Amino acid sequence: MTRTIRSSVALGAAVLLTFGGLSTFATATATASPATHHLVESPAQAALAQAVAPSECAGTLLDTYVDQLFAGMTDEQFAFLVAHQDTLLNVPTYDALFFGSPNDPDYALESHAQQITNTFRDLRRFWNIESADIQLMAMHGDVLLDAARIEKTLTAMVATGELDPMTPEQIQAEAATVADFMQTQGDFYDNPLWTLNAFAFSADGETDPFIAALPDKLIMGDGIIDAYDAIGLGDVGIRVIMAHEFGHHVQYELGVFDTGPTDPAEATRRTELMADAMAAYYGTHKKGLALNKKRVADALLSFYTVGDCQFDSPGHHGTPLQRQRAADWGADLAAAAKPQSSILPPATFVELFDQALPEIISGS
Ligand SMILES: [Zn+2]
Repeated sequence: MTRTIRSSVALGAAVLLTFGGLSTFATATATASPATHHLVESPAQAALAQAVAPSECAGTLLDTYVDQLFAGMTDEQFAFLVAHQDTLLNVPTYDALFFGSPNDPDYALESHAQQITNTFRDLRRFWNIESADIQLMAMHGDVLLDAARIEKTLTAMVATGELDPMTPEQIQAEAATVADFMQTQGDFYDNPLWTLNAFAFSADGETDPFIAALPDKLIMGDGIIDAYDAIGLGDVGIRVIMAHEFGHHVQYELGVFDTGPTDPAEATRRTELMADAMAAYYGTHKKGLALNKKRVADALLSFYTVGDCQFDSPGHHGTPLQRQRAADWGADLAAAAKPQSSILPPATFVELFDQALPEIISGS
């Protein structure tokens, strides 16, 4: 197989938490996501892996978890995944993004539902932005059992350029093949890999009429929730990741994506490190989650995988050390609040972060 994994190709304004190359994000550029090293090796990836310092890209608990997911597949399942990766790794995401709504049971939060709902409400209170229009919902793998839903999603992905062109007949055949297979494979449809993500979406600046009409969303995948549970960070991790994603909504609301560096990789690094700092600020603040600084940083840092060592990628989130420094900076800012209950206005937070960014990047 020489084909690379292409999971979430960049959506205009979608910001997804990068996860081992299984998902990507971008602000304005259309770029295929990096291939994951887990499934299919590509020459470019191998070259890249050698070009980065091992200490900066060491595996995490989540790497191990993802490896176990692959190891748990039968040979037949694994081969099917490789052959139908565009559908398996994208359709649950785009189905929720394009067609999900908070009142539809197909997108209802299940695992940790109460905690997620409460944290969302709390984040809206903490960051004083216009947030009533943000829709919170889940994405589930069971869409892969339903040929009609797969077909609808693939059709919309092709129409919006998120997937390479396919004819209606090809789409119909692919949808039927995937749904038929999933129906014979027990709970394979629910494998965390299909929904291993959490992301914030805003249609701000989108030109495609279909995408531009989509509401703001914060979507939590079952897979990311399962992953955090599995590595023992379910409680803290889920809330901290939500805080990171909500941070992107704060950025959308304040127009942060319209400012900053013009280089796409540098621009992404800034907004991702800022979202980490926002998550750490909220996570440790007395009026936020009031969690221990190290636990919050651990939860954020557990997202590092080799997939995010692609430093030149527009989807790059910053090195682990940079993210650690961003988290530390946010936590220290919360600790320095006087009085302890005072919360900075979001615009002030962004201003202070931008002043601190050179040091967060360089470490000195
Ligand atoms: Zn992010």
